Amino acid sequence: MRASSTDPPSPSPPAWLTDCSTVTDSRNDELFARAQRTTPGGVNSPVRAFRQVGGVPRFVTRAKGPYFWDADDTRYIDYIGSWGPAILGHAHPSVVQAVQDAAARGLSFGTPTEGEIEMSETLCRLVPSMEQVRLVSSGTEAAMSAIRLARGATGRPKLIKFDGCYHGHSDGLLVKAGSGLLTFNTPSSAGVPPEITQHTIVLEYNHCERLESAFAEYGDAIACVIVEPIAGNMNLVRSTPEFISCMRALCTKFGALLIFDEVMSGFRVALGGAQSIYAQSNPGLAPDITVLGKVIGGGLPVAAFGGRREIMRHLSPEGGVYQAGTLSGNPVAVAAGLATLAGVEAPGFYDRLSANTRRLADGMARAAHEAGTEFCSDAVGGMFGFYFSSEKPFALPDVSGSDIERFKRFFHAMLDRGVYLAPSAYEAGFVSAAHDDATISATLAAAGEAFAAIA
Ligand code: PLP
Repeated sequence: MRASSTDPPSPSPPAWLTDCSTVTDSRNDELFARAQRTTPGGVNSPVRAFRQVGGVPRFVTRAKGPYFWDADDTRYIDYIGSWGPAILGHAHPSVVQAVQDAAARGLSFGTPTEGEIEMSETLCRLVPSMEQVRLVSSGTEAAMSAIRLARGATGRPKLIKFDGCYHGHSDGLLVKAGSGLLTFNTPSSAGVPPEITQHTIVLEYNHCERLESAFAEYGDAIACVIVEPIAGNMNLVRSTPEFISCMRALCTKFGALLIFDEVMSGFRVALGGAQSIYAQSNPGLAPDITVLGKVIGGGLPVAAFGGRREIMRHLSPEGGVYQAGTLSGNPVAVAAGLATLAGVEAPGFYDRLSANTRRLADGMARAAHEAGTEFCSDAVGGMFGFYFSSEKPFALPDVSGSDIERFKRFFHAMLDRGVYLAPSAYEAGFVSAAHDDATISATLAAAGEAFAAIA
């Protein structure tokens, strides 16, 4: 919809422009308006639509290292990295080469390949709580299948999840927490009948007493507890070590399986995922099943779930729990994942990544305080969170209680200065190996201006 002097005057914008308040010369605006004609909300995953922060999403044309360029050819320092996978930086040469080589050998066969074995061996070596893994194509699929496996292996129906943790969009997990102590079965999405979520119990994160009460009441019906051990879907919120211990102890006592959803934290917060961090103080805190995604595909669709052999043997074709996928273990996607995992195994990789991420998080907090803004931040590995509140959050209500309006203004002030943060106060941020000192310094300079501008 770029205007030209020869265009006839247009009295009012067409109906499909309703979500796009102004017609401008921006190619992003033009693409967003066009996208809304054929795609609901103009996007293929809701958070991309900028509904939480307002404005028009950036349509990316290319990306390299820590940057991407939008359709107006504006460059941004990117702190999303495809929502986690781009841990080596965008278009890393070794990943691109691996993808090109694999693609030249054929895109998909529907029969096993050696690359899949290499991927499973690598994952089991790096995440020792897994003796076997099954590869799938999305985190949603992996979490959904892990829960089915837990139910099949225990013969029990119920699952416990925590408010603010996200495990993909399968029906049984789209459940709202209510105000009661133990909350069942209010679907959080239209299209999910309450019968489907009747076995889902939603509890508050980091709250051991509620978990104890749930087990006391339903213990022999609980198949599993699923948790993000370091949550990234209510901004960054860490489990306390006590919370991990309490989940582990209760699952063991009542014969339920503990599932760590490390789709986000896996290979992001440390080489062995969040579980390797908690295991440092107590090796007995390992989960029974681990769910992985994002980094293990390096930007292409690979996810996985795995655990001890005695649990995994329940999966089809060995056992009675059915699970399958036409593109599971796709050779091109697996090649991207293996090249990415080879990159993160480089000596000192996580030390450098953690130091840069910490510098960013601490620097933002310093800049905010200089501007007199209530703000705090956290970082673990290559993942960071920041909150317009005086204390780091322990659970979802703390994040909801932060100054979300101020977050929105900060988001836009940073965007105007060429820094792309997650367009929601409920999302964590991601630093890659390509975010060097200069990139972080440029970001902190922008943050200083942005805090002053919104003060
Ligand atoms: N689990 C966690 C912890 C996630 O962060 C996500 C996605 O962000 C998922 C599961 C779902 O993964 P996917 O979007 O690949 O289906």
